[in-house]
Amino acid sequence: MSEYFDLLSEFHGARAGVLKTRAGDVHTPTFMPDGTRGAVKGLTPEMVRSTGVQAVLANTYHLHLQPGEDTVAVLGGLHEFTKQVLPLLTDSGGFQVFSLAHINKITEDGVHFKDPKTGDTVFLSPEKSIQIQMKLGADIMVAFDDVTALDDKGRTRTREAFDRTHRWLARSLSEFQRLTKGMDLGERPLLFGVVQGGLDKELRKQSLEIVQSLPVDGIAIGGLSVGESREEMHGMLGYLADHYDSSPRPRFLLGVGDPIDLRFAIQHGIDMLDCVLPTRNARHATAWVAGDEKIHLTNAKFIADRDVIDPGCDCTTCNFGYSKGFLRHQFKVNEPLAGTLVSIHNIRYLQRICEEYRKEN
Ligand SMILES: [Zn+2]
Repeated sequence: MSEYFDLLSEFHGARAGVLKTRAGDVHTPTFMPDGTRGAVKGLTPEMVRSTGVQAVLANTYHLHLQPGEDTVAVLGGLHEFTKQVLPLLTDSGGFQVFSLAHINKITEDGVHFKDPKTGDTVFLSPEKSIQIQMKLGADIMVAFDDVTALDDKGRTRTREAFDRTHRWLARSLSEFQRLTKGMDLGERPLLFGVVQGGLDKELRKQSLEIVQSLPVDGIAIGGLSVGESREEMHGMLGYLADHYDSSPRPRFLLGVGDPIDLRFAIQHGIDMLDCVLPTRNARHATAWVAGDEKIHLTNAKFIADRDVIDPGCDCTTCNFGYSKGFLRHQFKVNEPLAGTLVSIHNIRYLQRICEEYRKEN
């Protein structure tokens, strides 16, 4: 047990715990939907909370570019701005810079990239990322790293980027410590360090050891679910499970949200996950049903289907009785309500998995 993370139990590799943040408790294991630009697409904060979600992720990269952290701060910070009372986690912006933006130059200092909208050159560094996340008012922050260490299959490209990622982690940590100096644990945000190393076990082990040796509040696993096969990802999660230290810190797997992967990750010691998948799938008329199967609601066979998406589901969409026939029609006429209703169902589907593990433990 630590001051901010109570590990309640462990069962066949899965853990149940409570992460205490300044915005409230996060019961783990937990899946966090992505509120990329401050909102989980198509959902009000009340709808998000109705699914049993414990925390929401927001993207530093997107919010920095638009409307900018100063504007968010003037409008009261992320909680007040978005009206989301649940604990909020911001990522570092690193992954988006390296995957979405045109990079002009990477130096030891940081990354110069082009704002895709305005064409302006933007600079992001470990210090800058932490400053932005502080201004946004995140409750859980993530250290900025150099993900050029990965190719599109998650393999390590250069030793140089791998080493730099840890130097940048140390800089993120000192900037975090400078900005939170004098704050009590209950009032300061938490900082997670990111483990990289692609699909190279030796590098992963080294990275994990470095991150675990630092006084970060949580261990984030980055660079997976980036194009590698499911077997490769599961192989790495299994490998990492044998190398976590005994310090009671939460472990956060970035960017994973498929039910099969979610179960596997939780069974291998992961406490928190995030992904756009449940809402993106929903907007594309895809819903998860019992047995982790997917159904496509635009399918003609649902045209006169009076049943709800999943009779065993307790989400507000299924509870209220929206039929597959109605949802199919709404998708067919491009009514955004359909995406909203199925997003609620899909997010709830993942929460129910997390809740099973919390109960079992
Ligand atoms: Zn449902």
